[in-house]
Amino acid sequence: MTELGEAAEAALERLRSYRTGDAPTHGGHVLSYVYDPGSAELDELAARAIRIMQPVNGLDPTTFGSVAAIERDLVRFARDLLGGDEEVVGTITSGGTESCLPAVKTARDLWRAAGGTGTPRLLAPVTVHAAFHKAASYFGLELDLVPVDPLTGAPTADAVIARLGSDVALAVVSAPSYPFATLDPVRPVAAACADAGVPLHVDACIGGLVLPFAEGLPDWDLRVPGVTSLSADLHKYGYAPKGVSVLLHRGADRLRAQYFATTRWPGYPVVNPTMLGSRSAGPAAAAWAIVQALGVDGLGALARTALEATRSLVDTVTEIEGLRVVGTPAGPLFAVAADDSAHPDARVDPHHWADALRGLGWQLQLQPGLVQEDGVRLPHTTHLTVTPVTAQVLPELQDALRAGADLVRGIPQVAPMEAIAALGGDVTAVLDGPLPESLAPLLALVEGLPPERTEQLLIELLARLIEP
Ligand SMILES: *Cc1c(COP(=O)(O)O)cnc(C)c1O
Repeated sequence: MTELGEAAEAALERLRSYRTGDAPTHGGHVLSYVYDPGSAELDELAARAIRIMQPVNGLDPTTFGSVAAIERDLVRFARDLLGGDEEVVGTITSGGTESCLPAVKTARDLWRAAGGTGTPRLLAPVTVHAAFHKAASYFGLELDLVPVDPLTGAPTADAVIARLGSDVALAVVSAPSYPFATLDPVRPVAAACADAGVPLHVDACIGGLVLPFAEGLPDWDLRVPGVTSLSADLHKYGYAPKGVSVLLHRGADRLRAQYFATTRWPGYPVVNPTMLGSRSAGPAAAAWAIVQALGVDGLGALARTALEATRSLVDTVTEIEGLRVVGTPAGPLFAVAADDSAHPDARVDPHHWADALRGLGWQLQLQPGLVQEDGVRLPHTTHLTVTPVTAQVLPELQDALRAGADLVRGIPQVAPMEAIAALGGDVTAVLDGPLPESLAPLLALVEGLPPERTEQLLIELLARLIEP
């Protein structure tokens, strides 16, 4: 072997050893972050597509015509699937966040161009994805969050509509929301937005490629007049590797407003629809290949598998004493809260439950409780994102969900003061030592401390992870 060859093998070996500490990306034991179609063939297809596009720079579709072709095909595919007509255009982005951010920027710029002055508002139910908090922070909008019902996790259309006004640059609803999987009332909100002249974004980042195959839902996509933009992540239920999503606009003018262009520097003219400059074309190529290979029918079959598995799991959790499923989940995801109507001895705290499940080999996602602007607290919950692979491990998972609940039934939620006391009275102690085994106390801190304090602690925690 050459010198480089040996060093290269050694580097790959080291990379593999880094990976051994990761959560398993396949097999259905991690119920968030990863979207496993349960097919080695699709994984291989994605890898081969990425390999073909690896050296290409997605920055410039005039130099690399393949990038334009891939994006055009994907936008057309998404538009057709999501009820858009000829009027609907769009772009490929690097992910859900990068679809949401330009949607907000575009709306803000159009609002200003129409004469809006001062600070515009971004109006949404409190369950809207944090990407919109980021967008408001980046682009200088005031976030106006409408409280939802703590039992169902759902907003009412009236509560959203009541806050429309000429200072609203964009309203956002979700299909479905990430925290509780509720399908927001798209049609009535869209009608009111159209009357008020306010654009409406449907955040279908997680639902965009599954809800078209769910039955009995009210209309939620581009079929609804008044919906002006929509985001759908190909790296979620399109099963592409991370780094690809689509943002659709109704009307070419909106897409034009998304672009940033400048010729006012001595370098090449910059004309970008997205936040990134140079970017990989790999994930989009992988999404493209997957969509070509599966077609609508293949995607639909995978979606129905995930939706079916979700129904079984919702039934299982509903039957577990002391837990309740929040609301009526509209997609392959749901949140689980403690059943407050049960006797305290029979109640199951969802965070202790998630910790117990981790001990049994299953990773669920803990979500903190939140006091809304009206003073009503949304419960702390545990979130499950269900993918096609889940169907392959369903009985095992159902047994674990029941067994986990039996292990922690009657143990109350960690009180924030208790969590602080466990750290010797100093919350900064969480920064020293390894990440804690049980996450319930950490989430109690998140819920109990003022957000500014928690955010600062979490930044410190994450920043230290990558400091050399
Ligand atoms: C995942 C998600 C996003 C953000 O997507 P990223 O790909 O993680 O950036 C936005 N909205 C919803 C509803 C999501 O589920």
